[in-house]
Amino acid sequence: MNEEAELLRQRGEPVIHLGIGEPKNKAPINAILNSAAKLSTGDIKYSPTDGIPSLKKAIATYTEENYDKIPDPDNVIVSSGAKQAIFNVLYTLLNPQDEVIILAPYWVSYPEMVKMALGVPVIVTPEDGGLHPRMKDIVQAAGSATKAIIVNSPNNPSGLVFSDEFMGEIVEFCEKKGIYLIIDDIYHKLVFDGRRPTPCYEFTDKEIEDSKIIVINGISKLYGMTGFRIGWAIAPERLVRVMTNVQSQTTACASVILQAAAEGALTGIQSIVESLRLTIENNRNIIMKELESFNGVKVTRPGGTFYCLPDFSAYNKDSVGLSELLLRKALVVTVPGKEFGMEGHVRLSYAGSVKDITEGIARIKWALDPDSPNEIYIGNKKLVRDWL
Ligand code: PLP
Repeated sequence: MNEEAELLRQRGEPVIHLGIGEPKNKAPINAILNSAAKLSTGDIKYSPTDGIPSLKKAIATYTEENYDKIPDPDNVIVSSGAKQAIFNVLYTLLNPQDEVIILAPYWVSYPEMVKMALGVPVIVTPEDGGLHPRMKDIVQAAGSATKAIIVNSPNNPSGLVFSDEFMGEIVEFCEKKGIYLIIDDIYHKLVFDGRRPTPCYEFTDKEIEDSKIIVINGISKLYGMTGFRIGWAIAPERLVRVMTNVQSQTTACASVILQAAAEGALTGIQSIVESLRLTIENNRNIIMKELESFNGVKVTRPGGTFYCLPDFSAYNKDSVGLSELLLRKALVVTVPGKEFGMEGHVRLSYAGSVKDITEGIARIKWALDPDSPNEIYIGNKKLVRDWL
């Protein structure tokens, strides 16, 4: 659908992208200066596979400040994005047929990565029909083959921030059962309504070395640096050693220029993260208000990220068909809920401009809601709805 949208855009159609998962802000100045300084030395070589020592130190300081835990440099591995970090973890942990519990709605890559590592994804969907995972569903799904559970909160695609009670319970459960808990924290500071990011280590007495918790993070979302491709994992040293072997036989180190940029972002002025968070929170408020005016849409108010996952099943139960209709009739890009294990829903991103959000939702309303006026202007064309 992204390709179709791009073709439409190239033809000059006024496409609105509510599908994209990246903030619009420019990279932080400290990231740019640090990478430019590195580049200008002309001395651009391999770094150690697990990352430049000074970046690993910056990640350790970030972890201390945000998670109240001090990792040893041997607990840290830098990768080319959080995505590669997650793949390294799964490839390291899984033997063929090991099961990994994935909580629906989930980020699309988790089940595919588990399968690539010859594991079996076990999808756990909240039995109550909601979007927040429930411990009793997870306990029921866990068995002797369960090697790991992946938790992503704030969650892509729902925007939900899981309760501290749930996080405490799942940490306790995993530590007790010896199941690895992969915490994908890529959105951890993008939380709203005065909430604080929940540091998962708070719920265990164990040190990183003895804990089952593996934390994944990166600069893509919080610093708006998706194109820099730097992420990391914090894990016990024995796992980091194997992950380093995996990475050394695939991509080796992440680019040193981009590692320098990541170090600049982590050690530079941090107000950029708060300013991004405030912008996105405002966008969240706007999209919620716009969606409230829709009679048939049910939506859980996101507590973080830049996504929401409204239930459009009153209009169309087939989310792929729905997203196709929205693109072809209303020129709005969305992502079908089916891709995240939530049929009947559609993921909308509010990372873009306020204008795109308000206009995008107005177009969706026109395309789906028979109670809305059946004429609309898209660009300079007046369109008439004739399919409801
Ligand atoms: N985890 C989640 C939940 C994501 O949504 C994304 C990107 O969309 C990633 C990980 C990947 O992040 P990165 O850009 O650091 O590879």
